[in-house]
Amino acid sequence: MSSKSNIFITEETIEGDEDGLLADKTVAVKDNISTEGVTTTCASEMLEDYVPPYDATVVEALKEAGATIVGKANMDEFGMGSTTETSAFGPAPNPVAEGHVPGGSSGGSAAAVAAGEADLALGSDTGGSIRNPAAFCGVVGIKPTYGLVSRYGLVAYANSLEQIGPLAPTVEEAAALLDVISGPDEHDATTREEGADSDYASAATGDVEGTTIGVPTELVEGADEGVKARFEETLDDLRDRGATVEEVSLPSVEHAVEAYYVIAMSEASSNLARFDGVRYGKSGGFDGNWNETFSESREAFGEEVKRRILLGTYALSAGYHDKYYKQAQDARAWVKQDFDEAFQSVDVLASPTMPVPPFEQGESLDDPLQMYLADANTVPVNLADLPAISVPSGEVDGGLPVGIQFIGPAFGEEEIIRVGSAVEE
Ligand code: GLN
Repeated sequence: MSSKSNIFITEETIEGDEDGLLADKTVAVKDNISTEGVTTTCASEMLEDYVPPYDATVVEALKEAGATIVGKANMDEFGMGSTTETSAFGPAPNPVAEGHVPGGSSGGSAAAVAAGEADLALGSDTGGSIRNPAAFCGVVGIKPTYGLVSRYGLVAYANSLEQIGPLAPTVEEAAALLDVISGPDEHDATTREEGADSDYASAATGDVEGTTIGVPTELVEGADEGVKARFEETLDDLRDRGATVEEVSLPSVEHAVEAYYVIAMSEASSNLARFDGVRYGKSGGFDGNWNETFSESREAFGEEVKRRILLGTYALSAGYHDKYYKQAQDARAWVKQDFDEAFQSVDVLASPTMPVPPFEQGESLDDPLQMYLADANTVPVNLADLPAISVPSGEVDGGLPVGIQFIGPAFGEEEIIRVGSAVEE
């Protein structure tokens, strides 16, 4: 692990073109996004020495926009976690809340922006991994609609749920970075035409006059008192600026965390099968028995990754598939339907990004279930393929940042950027 207190796994300058939208900007790139010739570890011992032979599409886009990449940011191993403590290279700090986690899994990306080590950052969000660290570090993060940003070159954790997205000090800067990375890509068949000629940055007008904001009661009820208080204050400000706030109900979200973890772990068990020491990953060499050779290579995974591969394999196995995986897919469809209905009567939905302030360092490591439950407000968005933004909305307990999340309809990025920018005014 390099210096800068574990914010970066690899510090390396990658120069972009001479000019472009981001010509004077530095960017931190999460270490699960491929950079040609520069180590991409996913914060795993398994990929400690892996040097990709090509750039992710988003990295190409950064270079074309003239950005200077300053390093590969620390993260939870393969994106599995909410605190950046499952990194094989040690935890990243929270630059604005000492002794507390920066959130995760894109904790290094958020910390880089919060500490001023980079102007902007890229993270990836499978179940909250951009919004959670944005909230915990007091910066802005956007999880784009599924299909808006190419995943080509993103090392897959749970590919049906995840998107690459921006982190930045302000909504407008995050939107400008989204403009650079969004749009169709022939290397990723799940991308769409939307975003091809986007101008998200100019949607950050701060104007919420006449906007209807729905608040799903299920996403507020369980939150800490302090978090709730900041959330209500922010809504009051938005009302003063001309928005209407109304309660809505999303009954399905009660099952979102279960459904998310079954789907994410199932996909992970399949995606991570390639790290067998033959195709990818560490190899101890063939010792006459392939089963042993493979299982020795897979020792290089950390505990959380092993847990998820085991659970995911179990959920997909014959006899259990219908009981877990199929049910989770049904729940996913129900969550989507609930959101569709809600958007018939409101423009955006709002909730606290995280129901709790940043955990103390070390706190969540011995209780994975507690950590999974903290994802209650972020995972429904990934299950429904929707866009969401997290914007700083004050502090609790003497200096711990909290965020407010706005969720939009599919490809409604402009709407959430507009409303998000009103919070900053
Ligand atoms: N905390 C969630 C998980 O561990 C989200 C991770 C992510 O979005 N990559 O799966």
